[in-house]
Amino acid sequence: MTFALSRYYLEFKEPFSIAHGTRNGTDLVFLKLEHQGFVAWGEASLPPYLPETQQTVCDFLERFMVRAFDISEGLEVLLNRLMEFEQGNYAAKACADIAMHNLFAQMQSIPVWQLLGVPDYPLPLCTYTIGMGDKAAIRRKLIDAAGFKLLKVKLGGENDREIIRTIREETDLPLCADANQGWHTKEAALEMINFLAGQSVLFVEQPLPKYLHSEMKWLKEKSPLPLYADESVQTPADVKQVSEGFHGVNVKLMKCGGLAQGLKMIREARNYGLHVLIGSMSESGCGITAAAQLSSLADYADLDGPLLTKNNPFPMPVYKNGILEL
Ligand code: MG
Repeated sequence: MTFALSRYYLEFKEPFSIAHGTRNGTDLVFLKLEHQGFVAWGEASLPPYLPETQQTVCDFLERFMVRAFDISEGLEVLLNRLMEFEQGNYAAKACADIAMHNLFAQMQSIPVWQLLGVPDYPLPLCTYTIGMGDKAAIRRKLIDAAGFKLLKVKLGGENDREIIRTIREETDLPLCADANQGWHTKEAALEMINFLAGQSVLFVEQPLPKYLHSEMKWLKEKSPLPLYADESVQTPADVKQVSEGFHGVNVKLMKCGGLAQGLKMIREARNYGLHVLIGSMSESGCGITAAAQLSSLADYADLDGPLLTKNNPFPMPVYKNGILEL
């Protein structure tokens, strides 16, 4: 059993703007495991607004692999040890979790969804993301979205209504809206959500800053659209609290620590009657293919990342009729 770590910069086709800011790409770390002729990969994606960096991820994975990884102990023991091995480091843990699932699935000659005990059917619609931009940029992105049946629009800036109107001049496809915490008061958020409810928007993600818990409870009671938590929810332990202010959760492997925790988080969300979006950071085909293994359990998938990038080093996932295939 050998392992190797590598750093990578995943570049966007166009600068990507959300309410947090604009960037040209995302730092990644890949973990490669080799054992008895099998080769398996894991990925950590590290957008700049999160605390982990390539250095912290490499340091963590080096410590974990050297001190705590013995393949003869089996997947379940290793996954439990990974979660208990130091606090935090969720993207690093997701990287190791993905690589381990890929390796053990290969060793058993089964797909990862089967190793997880998850069905492969039916699969939900996958969104195509329209980042913030001027009218011309949004029109270009809508052309790129051809074939998708559901669009995800990034809001939370100064010209939200103009973005929606520009999209509606071109298409009547259903939309979901992600404010990325960009609306600052509950009243402003409700006003925008009421506007969006008249624009064939299916749900709204993270309307308010993540610390505004009581405001979210107020908004949940009044909102005409389902509200999904993203920045407000990280791990399975957070699900109970966010169920008070939201109708759904965005489960991302990089937030919660990988596939095992993602599965646990989806089950916890269903226990509280919540909708589930299986989402992603900007990730290559490695991370997206991993998240897709859980997608049959979700209401929607937000797994279009590799299509928005120009140097995905892994096989491009297959999107057909608006669905990411397994
Ligand atoms: Mg989001």
